[in-house]
This record gives sequence, structure tokens and C-alpha cells, in this order.
Amino acid sequence: MIYPWQQSQWQQIEQLISADRLPHALFLHGNQGLGKADFAVALANALLCKQPSADHQACGHCQSCQLLAANTHPDMYYLKPVPAENTKSKKPALNIRIDDIRVLCGKLNQTSQYGGYRVAVLEQADQLTPSAANSLLKTLEEPGKDVLIILTSARAHRLPVTIRSRCQQLRFTVPDEAQSLQWLKQNLDGSDASEKQLLQSLNHAFGSPLAALNNLQEAEQQQVLAEAMTAGITGKNSLAYAAKLAQYTKMQILEGMLSWASDLTRMIACGAESTIINEQYRSNLQALAKKVNQQRLFRFYDQLNFNVLHSSIAVNEQLLWENLLLSWDNL
Ligand SMILES: [Zn+2]
Repeated sequence: MIYPWQQSQWQQIEQLISADRLPHALFLHGNQGLGKADFAVALANALLCKQPSADHQACGHCQSCQLLAANTHPDMYYLKPVPAENTKSKKPALNIRIDDIRVLCGKLNQTSQYGGYRVAVLEQADQLTPSAANSLLKTLEEPGKDVLIILTSARAHRLPVTIRSRCQQLRFTVPDEAQSLQWLKQNLDGSDASEKQLLQSLNHAFGSPLAALNNLQEAEQQQVLAEAMTAGITGKNSLAYAAKLAQYTKMQILEGMLSWASDLTRMIACGAESTIINEQYRSNLQALAKKVNQQRLFRFYDQLNFNVLHSSIAVNEQLLWENLLLSWDNL
């Protein structure tokens, strides 16, 4: 995906491709939330595509593009930080490890399986462990033919200068407000957010349109979930929200429902003044707490936990939300 605010960077890449002067390593840096990794993947796809368009973008339907879409192209490698193994920490540090870099460099040294480029994208390359960075350095110094390594980072200074100096740099900057606003409006189809709200969200996201969009969508999602969870009290039909909820990420809605169930449990066990997550809906939760049957609340928890545990199984999500909302209304 090439975003509207990445046009000048893409033009630079196009010129390099046209002149057959693409370097073997690129370093994409700039603020978080500007879509650098998406740009890296778009470039990788463009190089691996068998029928790229006139402006050098991937066609999206050749065999290579199909393999790329299925994440099974043998000449495309993607690494991003993962939690350290064997850690008991709940929030383990995320790293790109030496073992993964060794495997990657081994593959980049082999010949291309599809007769063309071999491309590696390393997202958040500043999270390379020192030993992984060292290991990568050797490949950056002596890359094979038709190899492109693309590193991305929002914290360029954290990447060893030995690595940075071996890459051609491409800087991404925050787009101007008008461009961001236009893009947000296009991508918030059906939302009734005002221009003022869009601007506020952009400011909170330090000008990143992607982060602003994400925050706005999350806020909308929370609002819809709250309306569904309070429908029984406000005299609305909760089932009417099931189709809308089915458009969101299942796990996020399940977690949202868990937060409502947990608030309710706390208010019943510890009183109306308990600390709760959905503070702005305290009066609705108080009304619910007065009428709830605890046995049914525990069953609702079980129902939620079952779905969290089996969240990877595909289900008809509208039916799932209808069932859960029905249980919630009948607590
Ligand atoms: Zn293609």
C-alpha cells in the first residue's frame, strides 16, 4: 500500500528502478504510524511481481502476486520483533533475534526460487539484538545479486550506525493537515465524526493519519458496544447492534464485553462506588447491578471465556453477538 503522503518517496523509488540503480539495502525511517512497513511490502511486491504496472507497482493478480497475497512467496522474507522465548514476563521485550537473522541471511545467499529478486523486509529494525545486528551486517556488506533488504524504523538513532551507513535512506514525514483530513474522511466511511474530532484525533496521534484512523475506529467501536450493552436499560433493541459488531475485530469486542461483565461483578461484590473500567457508564451499570442474577452472570462469563479460548475458530459473528447480547439482556 502506497499512501497519498508517500508519493514523493515512491517517485524516488521509481526513478531508481527505471535507472536500474536500486540499492541492495534501504532504510525507511520517520515517525511511527506513517505506514513505512506497508510501503516496504508494496515495494517488495512490486519487485517480485511478474507484470508490474507502468508506474512499477505490483499487478496484484499474476502468480507471484497471488503467492505474495498468501504469504507463501519463496523469495519474500518478512521479519518483525517477537517476544523473547522462555520468558515468564507478561510484557516481554520484543526483539529480532540472531537465529532468525541467520536463517534469513542463509536464504538470501541462495539463488532466487522464482528467478528474480529476493527481498527481505525487517520491520522495526531498531529492535534487532546487538548480535542479530552484527550478523546482518555481514550480509549488508556482501549482499548477493538481486537482493534487496528493506529496514524500517521510527527510532532511527537506535539502529547501529554501521547498519545505517550501509543502507540508502528514505525519510518519511508527517503529511500536512489537509491531506490527512481528506484521507481520514475517505477511510471513515459511514462515520459521523466531525472535522473537529478528526483534527483532535490527528493531534493526539502527533499527525499520523494511520494512528488517528485507528483511534477513531476504536472509539466508534467502544461507543457501539456501549450502546449495545446498555440497550436493555435504555429501551432499545440490543440485537439491532449485532450486525454492526460483526464488522469489528472479534477479540476486541469479546474483551470489551469482558470489561462490562467484570465491572458488573465488581459493583455487585464491592458496592456501587467500586473502581470500574467503563466509568462513563457507571449509572447504567448501577441499574444493571440491581437486577442481575449472579448465576446467570457467571454463565455469561463462561460463555465469553469459551469464545475467547476458541476465538480462532471461524463462526457466524452476527449470530455470536446476538447470542451474547441476549444472555446479557437476560442477566
Ligand atoms: Zn503481479
